[in-house]
Amino acid sequence: MQTHYFTEGLIGRDWAHDIRVTVAPDGMITEMETGVQAPEGHHARGPVLPAMANLHSHAFQRGFAGLAEVKAVGASDFWSWRRAMYHFAAAMTPEAAEAIAAQLYLEMLKAGYTAVGEFHYLHNSHRDQALDMSGAIMKAADGVGIALTHLPVLYQASDFGGKAPEDAQQPFLHDTEDFIRLLKVLAARLDGGNHRLGMAFHSLRAVPEGSFAPAIEALEDISLKAPIHIHVAEQTREVEACEAFSGKRPVEWLLDTQNLDERWCLIHATHVVEAEWRGMAERGVVAGLCPTTEANLGDGLFPAAEYAAHGGRFGIGSDSHVSIDAREELRLLEYGQRLARQARTVLTPADGGHTGLNLWCAAAEGGAQALAQPIGEIAVGKRADLIVLDDTSATFAATHGAHTVDAFVFAGQPSPVRDVMVAGNWVIEDGAHKNEAEITGRYRDTVARIAADLEVLS
Ligand SMILES: [Zn+2]
Repeated sequence: MQTHYFTEGLIGRDWAHDIRVTVAPDGMITEMETGVQAPEGHHARGPVLPAMANLHSHAFQRGFAGLAEVKAVGASDFWSWRRAMYHFAAAMTPEAAEAIAAQLYLEMLKAGYTAVGEFHYLHNSHRDQALDMSGAIMKAADGVGIALTHLPVLYQASDFGGKAPEDAQQPFLHDTEDFIRLLKVLAARLDGGNHRLGMAFHSLRAVPEGSFAPAIEALEDISLKAPIHIHVAEQTREVEACEAFSGKRPVEWLLDTQNLDERWCLIHATHVVEAEWRGMAERGVVAGLCPTTEANLGDGLFPAAEYAAHGGRFGIGSDSHVSIDAREELRLLEYGQRLARQARTVLTPADGGHTGLNLWCAAAEGGAQALAQPIGEIAVGKRADLIVLDDTSATFAATHGAHTVDAFVFAGQPSPVRDVMVAGNWVIEDGAHKNEAEITGRYRDTVARIAADLEVLS
């Protein structure tokens, strides 16, 4: 057993003082007390907050984040992004995937994310390498010490109606039987520890209707609680194509045909009408919002204010990794709503409260649900995943109590995350990871080599 003492921090949605947390060898919190008289155990040097879950990641996309901001005359606005994505996808060996994921997961830990949902569609062009590519992701997560919810992705078509895949999509493909085999092998490998297995359907475009039921049945044989993620309703073009094919909007189709419940996480869900977001809220699904990527790709705005006001759950993901900072995701989520409504403090409970605190807690809880990870709150029965803020930061010069969380989310410059704990282990101390130099060196070599012949850079 280890004991940790914090002078102050966020317990539930309240600011507490003199907090003692006892952590079992398996990383779970077994005792928690506030207002303790005699501090004992390890003393943290700043306010403590529950850590954040990053519910949506495509690790290899970290390699070209920032390299796709080029517009060519006459080309579509997605041209440079798609070129970069396919170029990196084609170059991805298990070794390269591990090097990039390790750097990414290290950056996530430093930002206060302690669990990642890896929406893993890069299975490689050789079917027998699918296991090695998943293995590379797990190895990267183990190496840096982040908790992984691995979500192998089923991807079978290039458009609605089971349209044949393009050549560049070959590394993403599985037939349903191969995919189920992969799930079963991975389930055995991921048994125990901080890692979880779920699955993802790439999108309604990429998965014909008939493939949903057998894949979900196979997952349910493994666990009835395993998460199911899907990209949905990200752009209006996709909504129109879905309506033209099925007569229904994408989220409407899911609500009508699938047993949507708390296991499901709808990534983006940007373009939803009222009946759809109400349906999502009623079924207890998590809206997987990725505000910086959605802004980067020009997707649109999810109706977060109405959805949250009706009890809708949400979490955040860094998706394409143009930003790896939970605070930036939350700020942009809130600011999008403010700009659209010409209002302030939008994502705040109806009976009032702190916007930064509400955003942090709601996303931490929603992200934990979406990844089936026992985190998102500092409480008995949860895993000891937490962050300690730097109390010497100028950000906190005039703050106290819950204002500390607001200042952290809205105005912490630079990031005042100092120490990060995953399952009782300090993985970041004083802003640094013990293997940082080696991990970053390997990343630099890998990405420089792959990007050397990337057409959009020439
Ligand atoms: Zn995505």
